[in-house]
Amino acid sequence: MSKSEIGLIGLGTMGAMLSLNIAEKGFAISVFNRTTSRTKEFFDDAGDLAQRITPCDTLEDLVASIAEPRAIILMVPAGDAVDQQIAALRPLLGKDDLIIDAGNANFRNTETRAAQAEADGVPFLGIGVSGGEEGARHGPSIMGGGRKEAWDQVGHILTAIAADYDGTACATWMGQGGSGHFVKAVHNGIEYADMQMIAEVYGIMRDGQGATAATCAQAFETWNKGPLQSYLVEISGKVSAATDEESGNAVLDIILDRAGQKGTGRWTVIEAQHLGAPIPVIEAAVAARNLSAIKSERERGEATFGAAPVVLADDALSSDDLEQALIAGKIMCYAQGFHLLNAAGTEFNWDLPMPEIARVWREGCIIRSTMLNDMADALTAAPQDNLMFAPFFSKMIEDSMPALRKVVATAITHGLQVPALSAGLAYYDAMRTGRSTANMIQAQRDFFGAHSFERTDKEGAHHGPWGS
Ligand code: NDP
Repeated sequence: MSKSEIGLIGLGTMGAMLSLNIAEKGFAISVFNRTTSRTKEFFDDAGDLAQRITPCDTLEDLVASIAEPRAIILMVPAGDAVDQQIAALRPLLGKDDLIIDAGNANFRNTETRAAQAEADGVPFLGIGVSGGEEGARHGPSIMGGGRKEAWDQVGHILTAIAADYDGTACATWMGQGGSGHFVKAVHNGIEYADMQMIAEVYGIMRDGQGATAATCAQAFETWNKGPLQSYLVEISGKVSAATDEESGNAVLDIILDRAGQKGTGRWTVIEAQHLGAPIPVIEAAVAARNLSAIKSERERGEATFGAAPVVLADDALSSDDLEQALIAGKIMCYAQGFHLLNAAGTEFNWDLPMPEIARVWREGCIIRSTMLNDMADALTAAPQDNLMFAPFFSKMIEDSMPALRKVVATAITHGLQVPALSAGLAYYDAMRTGRSTANMIQAQRDFFGAHSFERTDKEGAHHGPWGS
C-alpha cells in the first residue's frame, strides 16, 4: 500500500476540515484522533475524498502509514494537549520527521518547543491558521514559523491548501521560531479591533439613531461595496439581516451582549506592552470584550446611574460619517498592528516580511479586506514605515479623520460607547503632536525619583531645582 504524504492529529472542527482540504488538493493524508470513534465517523463522511485518506486508530499506525521524512500536523487545543501529543509522537518518529503545531499556540510556547526541537536535532514548525472552519476547508491564510528547511518540506502542501488571491497563495514562511504564531496573534488582535469598531458603529445606529437590525444590515451592505469591503463588514450585514425562526425577531436582537474570547487578543496586548509598542485600538477592543463579560455589574451600573441619554438628532451623523469614521479607525488600527510586528521583528531578530504579511491576510483569513492589498503595496515601498505615512493612507486619513472626530465627539457627548474608535482618534492626535506633554511626566519622575530628564537646549542628563 502506498504511503501518505502527510499526517494529521485532531479531527475536531479545524483538523477535520483541513484534512478534507488536503485530500481535495490531491495529497494522500493519514489521520488520527484521540477518540477513535471520531476517526471512523470522519472517514465515513469523507465521500470521494476517502480514497486519499488513511484513518488510523493508533499513533503507531499513523506513523507507519506516512512516507519518510514524515510531516504530521497537530490540530489540537493550544497548551498542554500540544505538549502531550509531541511527547507521545517523538519517540515514534525519526530524526528528520517534522511535527507541525497548527493550533493557536501562544508564540512563547512555540519558541520553547522550537528551542527544544533544536536541542534534540529534530524539525518543528509552528503555523498560524486563520479562516475558521470554512477557511480550513476551502483555503485558509497560513503564517509559518520555524526553520526554513522545515517549511520547504511541506510548503508545497501548505500553499496548495491555502486561500488564493489573484493567483498568489496566502501562505508564507514568516521566519524562525514562534514568528508564525506571533503574526497569527497580531492578526487576531486586529480582528478584535475590526469587530469592535464595527460593533461601535452598530451601537450608534441602534441606540443613537433607533435603527432596526434590518436598517443596519443595509448600511453594512452599502459600505461593503466601498473602501471598507471586507469579510467582517460583509458578515456584519448578513448577521444584521438574519431572522430568528423561533421568535420572528432579528437574530441580533436576541443575542446576549456578552462576548467570548480565547485569549489571542489578550496575548497581542500583553506582547505589545512587553515591546513598548502602542496599540491602543486593539487594547480598547480587548478591554471592551472584558467589559462585555461583566454584564451583571453593567446592569447594576445602569440601575444606579441611569442609562446614557443617547438619542441623537436626526441630522447629527450621516451614514457617510459613520463609514468614513470606520475607514479612519481601521487605518489607525492596522498602522498600530504593523508597528507592533516591526517591533517584534527587531526584538526577536525575525526579519518579518512585512508586505508578505499583508498579502497573506488578503484572502482566507477573518480580517481579509480590499484595504490589505493597498497596505501590501505601501509596505512594499516602505516595509518599516508607519502605514500612516504611506502617501495612499496619508491622503485617506486626511479625508476620513474629520468624520472620525465628529463621530467620536457626538457619540461621547451622548453617552454612546466608542472606545476603539476614540482610541484611534487619540492615536492620530498623538502621532501628529511633535511636542507632547511628556515633559511634565519627566519633571514629575525627576521630582519624586531623581530619574533625571533630557533638556531641549543641551545634551546630557539633568535634574530640576526641586531640592532633596
Ligand atoms: P475542537 O475542540 O473542535 O477539536 C479539538 C481536537 O483536539 C479534537 O479532535 C480532540 O479530540 C483533540 N484533543 C483535545 N484534547 C486533546 C488532547 N489532550 N490530546 C489529544 N487530542 C486532543 O478544536 P478546533 O478544531 O476548533 O481547534 C483546534 C486548534 O485550532 C486550536 O488550537 C484552536 O485554537 C485552533 N483554531 C481554531 C479555529 C476555529 O475557528 N475553531 C480557527 C483557527 C485556529 P477528541 O475528539 O478526542 O476530543
